[in-house]
Amino acid sequence: MIVFKFGGTSVGSAENIKKVAAIINDCDRDKIVVLSAVSGTTNSLVAINNCLANDKKEDALAIINKLELSYDELISELFSVESHHLDAQPFIKTKFEELRSLTTEATKNEKIILAQGEIISTNLFQMYQKQLGNSTALISALDFMSIDMNEEPENEKIKTKLTAILANNKAQTIITQGFICLNPDNEVDNLKRGGSDYSASLIGAAINAEQIQIWTDIDGMHNNDPRYVENTFPIGEISFDEAAELAYFGAKILHPQSIIPAQKNNIPVLLKNTFNPEAKGTLIKNCHNSTGVRAIAAKDGIIAIKIKSYRMLMAYGFLNNVFAVFEKYHTPIDMITTSEIAVSLTIDNQKYLKEIVEELNTIGKVEYDTDMSIICLAGNFSHSGKGISAAVLNCLTDVAIRMISYGGSQYNISLLVEKNDKIRALNLLNEGLFVQQNKPQEA
Ligand code: ADP
Ligand code: ASP
Ligand code: MG
Repeated sequence: MIVFKFGGTSVGSAENIKKVAAIINDCDRDKIVVLSAVSGTTNSLVAINNCLANDKKEDALAIINKLELSYDELISELFSVESHHLDAQPFIKTKFEELRSLTTEATKNEKIILAQGEIISTNLFQMYQKQLGNSTALISALDFMSIDMNEEPENEKIKTKLTAILANNKAQTIITQGFICLNPDNEVDNLKRGGSDYSASLIGAAINAEQIQIWTDIDGMHNNDPRYVENTFPIGEISFDEAAELAYFGAKILHPQSIIPAQKNNIPVLLKNTFNPEAKGTLIKNCHNSTGVRAIAAKDGIIAIKIKSYRMLMAYGFLNNVFAVFEKYHTPIDMITTSEIAVSLTIDNQKYLKEIVEELNTIGKVEYDTDMSIICLAGNFSHSGKGISAAVLNCLTDVAIRMISYGGSQYNISLLVEKNDKIRALNLLNEGLFVQQNKPQEA
């Protein structure tokens, strides 16, 4: 089986949904189609929750009304056949009535509200397939996708439940929602923003798919963030390790955790462009034939914490005590560097910052900076160690680098800079490591 995942823009309009259907129907294989919400919908649902949390129910209802109008327009374009439009209309009406009724108990219903985008898009897609005369099966992600109390996917449970569902479902095209899941209390929850990629990868792993295809609005993983850098280009093939580093460190094209299930099960992931299906895209697989820097990504919202040992030397047990504090507050550490007297590390979760700093203060003198960015250079640095770090640092002579992490993994070099320097750093690295390298040499 093949897993196809289509993101928000891919299902963002009637015209685009038709493109998605054409891609799916062109593939004569058994498949699971994982859909995101129509682009903008999850943002609107977040905004509705924010209004409700601030006791602004009228504002929430105004957003709901506006959103409903956008769906009315979408369905009138999508369903050209009267009878199918007549099916879609009451569906949208009911869904939005439900959404309005959810506003009465806002806090309790927050996650249920967030789940509506994917529930709507998958239903509309199935109705559209019906209009085309194709029979498909729609299965609810809430019947098999689940997370445990640490918000980690319950892989074995997912596998057992999904296998049983598929055993009773022989349709060639099975549609399901990305993003949404159940938590240990059997409540509706989600895999965090951008989580449909993760759903696709978890589903691929659960059914041991032949391939996971992530269809989006760009022709594959680019060598640098196209939102901030001009002249980026798609990479034809990249290893799981490199892709996982890039996803984790901010390449928005993939949810941070989405490569791990595919990698663990050695299932290739193909990134494709819904709006240019002929483009080759990027194949992520188990390969290590590259050398040097493949791609650069950046992650914002980083907090850098420095702990200076009171005993002046890196005493035995010091690091252990430091790490125990982060463990206690379930806060992962991204980067770490040490010196004789101090350790600097970064986290991206502010939730327990106050408590962490308080406890670290009993071990050493603590300083911290917020609003930092990690620049991640992914590649294979095992055979080409010579000159790589010099080339990277040479690009950034004009940028204040706060931390450098090199050698922790052979696939990653990380640099910590102030967020204000991020875009400049990304561009300088692009110029020095890609553009200049590819310029024809003068005779
Ligand atoms: P979807 O809604 O399909 O999940 P996303 O918006 O989440 O799409 O991801 C695609 C976007 O990721 C692209 O439009 C691009 O702006 C951004 N992006 C960031 N870094 C990269 C990169 N290295 N390569 C490709 N796209 C990237
Ligand atoms: N709809 C969700 C979001 O916007 C999940 C996704 O698109 O992957 O975050
Ligand atoms: Mg996405």
